Amino acid sequence: MRALPLILLLAVLPLVADEHPAPAAAKAKAQPKVVTAPQAPAEASVDAGPSTPKAALAELSAGNARFVAGKRVRTLDTGQDAAMRAALVKGQAPFAVVITCSDSRVPDALLFDQEAGRLFTIREAGNAPDLQGLASAEYAVEHLGSKVIVVMGHTSCGAVKAVREANGKPLPGNLWALQAGMAGLLESTPQDPNEDAKAHLAHLEEANARRQAQALLDRSPLLRDLVTAAKVTIVPALYNLASGKVQFLKAVAAAAAAPAHH
Ligand SMILES: [Zn+2]
Repeated sequence: MRALPLILLLAVLPLVADEHPAPAAAKAKAQPKVVTAPQAPAEASVDAGPSTPKAALAELSAGNARFVAGKRVRTLDTGQDAAMRAALVKGQAPFAVVITCSDSRVPDALLFDQEAGRLFTIREAGNAPDLQGLASAEYAVEHLGSKVIVVMGHTSCGAVKAVREANGKPLPGNLWALQAGMAGLLESTPQDPNEDAKAHLAHLEEANARRQAQALLDRSPLLRDLVTAAKVTIVPALYNLASGKVQFLKAVAAAAAAPAHH
């Protein structure tokens, strides 16, 4: 019954206006208020992402499970593309940062089944972010509110393989930067006498994801504070090219990070 007074008011409004003639401009302006415009459909097409680190990780995990099963739902409906763009022009709030390799076989949005506006992706060969990669991650969590940072290596990584095979000798061109980005990796994960080159490479790929995730904390007081406050979580992961499955490893802990230098 609460709607009734409003209906009466709307019905009476034109009469009231007639009794007290207003300037033409004001009268014309008042008209659209009576006829309420429907919400633009574009508004509804982009939902708010997960609001906690735990929920963000769960959504990535669920999206990857859909991809593995061949049952993607968020990245299939091309009929929504125009509405999605229109909604995203206003801004972005990606719930996850994905730091991964540039390898063309690692399609980040598809493998997590997330459309535009949901993932803030930083890609560099060997998923070893340089200073600007680190700044990009800080920007995403600080300014855009991302809740989780996934540092994702993958099987058959050419960048890790190149660093392994160079074994400390400088690679040509600017590829030395890859070696610098993975400094200490070979020393941390020596080849076991019982494992072949392929098995050793697999160990290096996993160790690199873990080390790069930990390095984010060691290099960034900003990220360290957010992880300590449980506002952000940093999780190493490995993507399997064959199965499409992402294996999430243990989140890195701020307590294990080096103390800040003053
Ligand atoms: Zn790679």
